[in-house]
Amino acid sequence: MKYDVIIVGAGPGGIFSAYELKKRAPKLRVAIFEAGHPLDKRRCPIDGDKIKSCINCKVCSVMSGFGGAGAFSDGKYNITNNFGGTLYEHIGKAKALELMKYVDDINVQYGGAGTKLYSTTGSKFKKLCIQNKLNLLDASVRHLGTDINFIVLQNLYNELSDKVDFFFDTPVKTVSVKEDGYLISCDMGEFECKNCIISVGRSGSKWMESACRDMGIATKSNRVDIGVRVELPAVVFSHLTDELYESKIVYRTEKFEDNVRTFCMNPNGIVVNENTNGIVTVNGHSYEDSAMKTENTNFALLVAKHFSEPFKDSNGYGESIARLSNMLGGGVIIQRFGDLIRGRRSNTKRIEEGLVMPTLSATPGDLSLVLPKRILDGIIEMIYALDRIAPGTANDDTLLYGVEVKFYNMEVELDENLETKYKGLYIIGDGSGITHSLSHASASGVFVARRLTPDAE
Ligand SMILES: Cc1cc2nc3c(=O)[nH]c(=O)nc-3n(C[C@H](O)[C@H](O)[C@H](O)COP(=O)(O)OP(=O)(O)OC[C@H]3O[C@@H](n4cnc5c(N)ncnc54)[C@H](O)[C@@H]3O)c2cc1C
Repeated sequence: MKYDVIIVGAGPGGIFSAYELKKRAPKLRVAIFEAGHPLDKRRCPIDGDKIKSCINCKVCSVMSGFGGAGAFSDGKYNITNNFGGTLYEHIGKAKALELMKYVDDINVQYGGAGTKLYSTTGSKFKKLCIQNKLNLLDASVRHLGTDINFIVLQNLYNELSDKVDFFFDTPVKTVSVKEDGYLISCDMGEFECKNCIISVGRSGSKWMESACRDMGIATKSNRVDIGVRVELPAVVFSHLTDELYESKIVYRTEKFEDNVRTFCMNPNGIVVNENTNGIVTVNGHSYEDSAMKTENTNFALLVAKHFSEPFKDSNGYGESIARLSNMLGGGVIIQRFGDLIRGRRSNTKRIEEGLVMPTLSATPGDLSLVLPKRILDGIIEMIYALDRIAPGTANDDTLLYGVEVKFYNMEVELDENLETKYKGLYIIGDGSGITHSLSHASASGVFVARRLTPDAE
């Protein structure tokens, strides 16, 4: 079978490529190969009862399958060039914003109507933050919530299922360059296409690296973000979250002049485990449905670690730190802020007696045995800085989960069309290293689909 376009990976990047291709050129023959399951078969076995922690499934249903890593996420679509990736460096700021807004319109049309679009525009918190040496980054954010995000994905799948050939549970092994296109090989055999869009996300990072090596496509990598997830009573942050939902705040530490930032804020949400290549780290999300809301808000505090020559394996560094927490805690470690400051590990009794009821079952421990001093000092400084705009952040009972690691894919050399040195071979989404978010990954998919259909209206 010869396709006009084969898409590798059915995350937001792949889905929005397919959606836009079929919308603009319905006659195109398009196939999507996806390593994970269809949406309705994606189920993480952790039930908190019989299976309490990650059992390292062959294909992780949290990270893989229709909807990609974002399927069970909080569905926060940030419309901004200030974070979430550097797509704008390739396609320009105006185009990137236009495409993110277009993606937002589609999400609203396919089930997201009624969800709220928050914005920092004109917010009084900008001034409050600056007065306290904190920088609130400008953004609009559509919060779909885990439940509505799932419905949007279901609707997009229904839209595409009879227009696109889907191959689930079919990891692509190799992509080879042919004279007139590409040969995609997987367990089911070999498939030809004229154009190929690779959108393998974070879970496909190792595969992407070797594919680039095999095809001689240049890559670079030098960053990993390391930190903790903070959980506290929702009322502490409610003045910010009610107005902005998610606030991206950056603080420059006095001691080392490092930037510490808030990331992935989940008002009334839950803290969850995340498994990346067998290493358990922490993440969070929240539901739109009020029945699923908790009394707590959680967010990450991350410090970006950039490396220079000769060290290249920034993700390996992050993995080693995460492994250390897994070694000490058998998974994620939880510690009260008061215990951390007093230099003692947390124990079950102190956590149970605290004001904040943890939403994730994790092992009480000591994060100072895991995180490098410079990173830990930065996080502690930031907690005190946040306490000035949200009093209560630095309370003894505030919970810290560790570690949270934000891995970055190595950045692939692409031109302004997101095309590799091979004509017709595009790399988009988080797998390209230039996006790190739902909105940027989706926008990159739309962008390439439009490049491939220049004659459509
Ligand atoms: C728990 C969690 C919560 C998150 N919350 C948010 C949020 O609220 N807002 C936000 O902006 N971002 C969030 N993110 C990040 C967001 O999900 C990603 O940025 C986004 O999904 C990237 O889209 P993508 O299409 O590039 O890649 P992915 O979504 O990772 O999809 C890639 C797909 O490719 C498949 N694949 C990989 N290798 C192969 C192969 N060899 N052959 C075939 N298929 C392959 C994978 O199985 C996967 O399904 C969250 C991530 C997680 C894990």
